[in-house]
Amino acid sequence: MIVMKFGGTSVESASAIERVAEIVKENVPCRPIVVVSAMRKTTNALLAMGRDAAEGKREAALDEMEALKNFHRREMYPVISPNDRYELNRILDEHFNELSDILKGLAALGELTPRSSDAIASFGERISSTIFAMALRARGIPGVHLDSRKLIVTDERFTQASPLYGQTFSRLAGAISSLDKHDVPVLGGFIAATENGVTSTLGRGGSDFTASIVGAAVDATEIQIWTDVDGMLTSDPSLVPDAHRVKTLSFAEASELAYFGARVLHPSTVLPAMRKGIPVRILNSRRPESPGTLIVAEPVPCSNILKCVAFKRQITVVNVHSTHMLMAHGFLHRIFEIFDRFETPVDMLATSEVSVSLTIDNPARLDAICDELRPFSQVSVENDQAIVCVVGENIRHTPGVAARVFGAIHDVNVRAISQGASLLNLSFVVAAADLPRAVRALHKEFFTELDPMVFD
Ligand code: ADP
Ligand code: ASP
Ligand code: MG
Repeated sequence: MIVMKFGGTSVESASAIERVAEIVKENVPCRPIVVVSAMRKTTNALLAMGRDAAEGKREAALDEMEALKNFHRREMYPVISPNDRYELNRILDEHFNELSDILKGLAALGELTPRSSDAIASFGERISSTIFAMALRARGIPGVHLDSRKLIVTDERFTQASPLYGQTFSRLAGAISSLDKHDVPVLGGFIAATENGVTSTLGRGGSDFTASIVGAAVDATEIQIWTDVDGMLTSDPSLVPDAHRVKTLSFAEASELAYFGARVLHPSTVLPAMRKGIPVRILNSRRPESPGTLIVAEPVPCSNILKCVAFKRQITVVNVHSTHMLMAHGFLHRIFEIFDRFETPVDMLATSEVSVSLTIDNPARLDAICDELRPFSQVSVENDQAIVCVVGENIRHTPGVAARVFGAIHDVNVRAISQGASLLNLSFVVAAADLPRAVRALHKEFFTELDPMVFD
């Protein structure tokens, strides 16, 4: 069995869905399990209408919902069998009526909680997966829709929920093994439910994670992440248009890259696959003939030091100064305990004799955090920062990498620097305005000559 996950751009329109259905058809002999995201922009649109409703803009929210419904109907009509049109309309009516009830409820309450945000965001994948199974059936493939909310069980950390693996694996394995062996199961990515059956989500971009969870549950032979680029590239092509495809990565490299902003893979994706030793392959649904990027346990020999220059935008740096207490016993613990209590992960940390600098990518609860830090320190906050992270297994074997990195960007002001214990990454903070210049300079420095066994 293989898992094939198709992202938002891969199912963004009628023609994209048709292309993807053909890709599934060609892979039927491998017994695919399909995971689909919401159509592109749908999750953003859903969350925007949720916010509008909660802010009292009830009519605007309902108008946006109507537009989204029309968009889905327009793009989905051509991909299903004409005999299924009545059924398609029934499915759309059912989902959008439920959504409209939730939006009206939010407008009355005037509040959008993480739990209701997940309820709203779930509609994108609920609809796309139901219709994709119909699109497969229209091509003679026995697509069977499975509701991920009945199979993937999570904790109650709405908007960022984590799977409870024991229950999830047994439900998934049970559901898949009870199907006919010719059936092609289709699940929505990203969505799940708590033990009590309340809808939750795995966090933005979480459909990749769903694919990996499903693959691990059924011991798939491969987990395929189909997207809109040729694989993991040496940097984000939106900033570095001449980025190259990386043919092979180790699990360790892929997880560092995903964590530090290579959006093509959700950061949690690697772990379930790695635990079961299942290869992950990133592929381009617009160019299925391209071999993509293969992610496996063992690094392949490579004469380049780096595999990729990743980056994360919209980073906030929090500086905590305390002249007398800094290195005192328990001081760092006290700081981390506050970030932890407000469920705000810290990405990077740098200390000096009188201060600690931390970076976070979610400032939602920063005011409350600062209120708790101030009684024992002076706090300053810098917005509009970015993290650049260079990754490669060879960093740990090569002396002088830092000198080359900082030499290449000698004209950029570098803030905090950190080298992870894994020794396969080096990351640092720059002002957001300097990010493009820094990333392009590093890319030029490290990828002008390429090992043809690893890049093309
Ligand atoms: P999907 O909707 O298929 O999940 P995403 O938008 O989540 O797609 O991820 C694909 C995008 O990730 C690409 O279009 C690209 O802009 C971005 N990206 C960022 N870093 C990288 C990288 N190193 N290699 C490839 N793509 C990257
Ligand atoms: N649709 C969700 C999102 O936009 C999940 C995903 O695309 O992976 O975040
Ligand atoms: Mg994605």
